[in-house]
Amino acid sequence: MAELERFVRDNMDPLMYGCFFGSLIVLGALELWITRSERAAPRRRRWPANWAMTALNIVVLGALPISGLAAAEIARANGWGLFNQLEVSFAVMLVAGFALRSLVSYGIHVAMHKVPPLWRLHRVHHTDTALDVSTTVRFHPLEFVVSVPVVVATIMAAGISPLVIILYELFDAVMAVFSHANIRLPRGVERVLQWGLVTPDMHRVHHSSAQPETDSNYGATLSVWDRAFGTYVRKADIDLTRMELGLEECRDGRSASFFWLLASPFLRLRRVSQANDENAGTREPVSPVAE
Ligand SMILES: [Zn+2]
Repeated sequence: MAELERFVRDNMDPLMYGCFFGSLIVLGALELWITRSERAAPRRRRWPANWAMTALNIVVLGALPISGLAAAEIARANGWGLFNQLEVSFAVMLVAGFALRSLVSYGIHVAMHKVPPLWRLHRVHHTDTALDVSTTVRFHPLEFVVSVPVVVATIMAAGISPLVIILYELFDAVMAVFSHANIRLPRGVERVLQWGLVTPDMHRVHHSSAQPETDSNYGATLSVWDRAFGTYVRKADIDLTRMELGLEECRDGRSASFFWLLASPFLRLRRVSQANDENAGTREPVSPVAE
């Protein structure tokens, strides 16, 4: 195990970039072949801001003074955290580490929706009026400034091993792209995968314009926490294809403006929730409302 850890540690950057950009290429190609919804069509309008935000976030994440991996190494070197006090097998550490790390992501995501100042940051992600692989890292950079310290503190308190953290982060990079992909998997495959993983159809519900649906399916990688906490929602195939995505309060050109998105947490936008009814996918967009 020490050799595996040394290998992934020494090749962390190529592995991470390989997982992320490889997933973008493979799943981006699949979007052209097994498209879930043609509503993702206006790429020319959405992609500049989405990819600019992705590039900015890669820089910001690289510039943060600490990472999950560094936290795990510091905890191990100092004997901090529960698992650094216990003698547990790698299998136990792997399962417990993935469960805990995904639970932290779930909790942070719920907080991003429920705490108004955090929602101002997180709504940048939800203002995308369609969903595809370019949405994956469309986050306001300050969201990482808020979330990374929580992740770091949890890793240190739990003493999750560096190897497990690396494996989770690689898994997370692939799952983030996968869950945002505008692809339609065979129903049986979707159903089986949803027992354990956050799938494209599952995460698509989270991007719905109807707030009860936005307030569901918070998981980033594993679906277990949504099932455990009662936030798991599944929609019918036809509704998934027709449903409206994004936020009613921001459906105009602002949602495609990189600089407006950067400034948007400091602007007031009144939340407008689309009714969660049968016609949700067919209603014409309403005018944006700003205060
Ligand atoms: Zn969200």
